[in-house]
Amino acid sequence: MKILSVNAGSSSLKFQMYEMPDEEVLISGVFERIGMEGSFYTIKLNGEKKEKKVELPDHKKAFELLVSELMENKIVDTLDDIVGIGHRIVQGGSYFDRSVVASDDVIQKIDELSSLAPLHNPAAITGIKAAQAVIPEALQAVVFDTAFHQTIPEENYLYALPYEWEKEYKIRRYGAHGTSHKYVSLKMNEILDRQDTKLITCHIGNGASISAILNGKCINTSMGLTPNAGLIMGTRCGDIDATIVPYMMDVLKINSKEMDTILNKKSGLLGISGISSDSRDIEAGIKEGNKRCELAEKMYVRRIVDYIAKYYVELEGCDAIVFTAGVGENSVPIRRKVVEALSVLGVKLDEEKNNIRGSIQKISTSDSSIKVYVIPTDEELMIARDTFELINS
Ligand code: AMP
Repeated sequence: MKILSVNAGSSSLKFQMYEMPDEEVLISGVFERIGMEGSFYTIKLNGEKKEKKVELPDHKKAFELLVSELMENKIVDTLDDIVGIGHRIVQGGSYFDRSVVASDDVIQKIDELSSLAPLHNPAAITGIKAAQAVIPEALQAVVFDTAFHQTIPEENYLYALPYEWEKEYKIRRYGAHGTSHKYVSLKMNEILDRQDTKLITCHIGNGASISAILNGKCINTSMGLTPNAGLIMGTRCGDIDATIVPYMMDVLKINSKEMDTILNKKSGLLGISGISSDSRDIEAGIKEGNKRCELAEKMYVRRIVDYIAKYYVELEGCDAIVFTAGVGENSVPIRRKVVEALSVLGVKLDEEKNNIRGSIQKISTSDSSIKVYVIPTDEELMIARDTFELINS
């Protein structure tokens, strides 16, 4: 059965087609600059990548071209071969604790939550509607980045703000990257061959979050109402004293939108180093003796360690720590520094095993008190799996 996993942004559409239940990737690609000048798409097929310049006035056109590519490359014979389409949705609020079929009522709720994810939820709805128009017979499923975090208890998801704010204004922790945390935790339990586990999963990419997972259920996560909470990220500040915000708005005489841009786009590794949001540039800067890069990385690592320690206490122990996403899968020095800072808990790094990028590997020694793993994430596959399950339910 062929299933498409898609992620629609305001001007982009990423896709991956799977043969399910084999979980084989048949073709993948991305349409870019939709609705803009200079639009194009790239397709990856049989290990080869091709790029085509085309006019992409809207997402519907992107889906039409995608269908043509699928047919030309003989991935499908007719539209009916595309049985399901799974859409990634950033914000599902408190409405959704699992993936569901994209009914009118569901789409309306996603729309209602747009104020909490103004860049993402409207774009996802555009993607769903375009897919429905071009491939009407396929089951359209929606997979939420927040759903896995809906098991977080009230004392962890509420902020110590006026109590009514949660009911009246939906102000609470929702978390993000849930699909990734779920994927790596399932994989980790599979490797440990147990379900009754205490896991700390570290999704550290340009955006970054850490989750505490008890017996397969998330009990805490570092992102909050929005992704700008918890860890220091590429360009986001993560946790700060909230009162800095009104204070600096007065000092700089800037409005909330300008402040939001500083907190989300000009802070984090970029804000401290002054040169880049990319951990590779920071590492290169450190090698050249750049003190601000050194400081940025120190702060970045410190915050990760703080969250692991906090969740270790909350879980009352830990069976395994998992690193995933761009930095987690690839940065040998950042993983080393995090694990070294946890030595007080008896965590020990195997230096040689840590010298890997982008593949599953245990990187702790056999006498380490906690197992440490690198597990590459696969959010697209989780979307395809959930869509497949909905088709079969
Ligand atoms: P993601 O958001 O998961 O795609 O992660 C993107 C980030 O991963 C980039 O901004 C880099 O900071 C980081 N990254 C990717 N490759 C490497 C690498 N080889 N070494 C260190 N960091 C990397």
